[in-house]
Amino acid sequence: MRLNISGIQGRKGAFFQVKRDLPGDFLQTVPEVSKVLGPISAELTVTNTGDAYLVTGDFSVDLELRCSRCLKPLRITLEASCEEEFLKEPELGDEEDFLEEQLVVEGSELDTTSLIEDSLLISLPMKVVCSPDCPGLCTKCGAVLADGDCGCSTADVDIRLAPLMKLLEASSQEARPERRKDHGSTKEKTLQSKGKLS
Ligand SMILES: [Zn+2]
Ligand SMILES: [Zn+2]
Repeated sequence: MRLNISGIQGRKGAFFQVKRDLPGDFLQTVPEVSKVLGPISAELTVTNTGDAYLVTGDFSVDLELRCSRCLKPLRITLEASCEEEFLKEPELGDEEDFLEEQLVVEGSELDTTSLIEDSLLISLPMKVVCSPDCPGLCTKCGAVLADGDCGCSTADVDIRLAPLMKLLEASSQEARPERRKDHGSTKEKTLQSKGKLS
């Protein structure tokens, strides 16, 4: 969203507010987001601080996400806020400052697009779950375990222990032929000693 600041340019302390609905299409690119259910409602205040233009804002948008465990859709209202300064001139500092993205006034306009998008993206939950104790999907048949028992026998085996169980099975199978070998060698020894005796 581009904001015209000509009304407060050259007037330190002057500010204005805008309230607008913006398209939330960019949120569709986020893998966890299955649907964007409405526009982003945005409320922004732009203040001329003398050295820069301070933009503070609150945003909200309704989204349909997918539970990362059972993949069921769930609706949330994502809320975000921002507080950033737009510089009148690009600042040329040392290399570190230069790498940091600067927000700069373009003539009589501020382009708040990246500011709004970044504020919403960093506010998305890291891990989406329909409920904290969501049991997820059955590892055998893929049924949603929260909907009831699917009847699979794996239900009592902890998934995290499954690789360990396989290792134990494998090692017990390996152990048997080794014992047979031992028996064989003792027989050989007895045969040898018998042979020496005779
Ligand atoms: Zn779930
Ligand atoms: Zn199952």
